[in-house]
Amino acid sequence: MLQLPPIPRSILGLSDIEVERVEISYNSEFIITIKNTQKEVKCKKCNNPTEPHGHGRVIRLRHLPIFDHTTRYRVSKLYRKCLILA
Ligand SMILES: [Zn+2]
Repeated sequence: MLQLPPIPRSILGLSDIEVERVEISYNSEFIITIKNTQKEVKCKKCNNPTEPHGHGRVIRLRHLPIFDHTTRYRVSKLYRKCLILA
């Protein structure tokens, strides 16, 4: 099993993340797909709970190379919907 370096928890300001899968792309890059597992997110406007509201675009971030392979994260931003103001 490939040992990955620890993933900074501060990625994109997400506090709860888990690695969904690791792939090697056609050009030999490691692609680490990350899932946002954050359950409770407060509304930025009114601070009330929100619910998931679909996935946004996929964001790619470059990581330090692993075994000399370029390494990138893929994470899709989660949209949230306010339960009060919605
Ligand atoms: Zn709100």
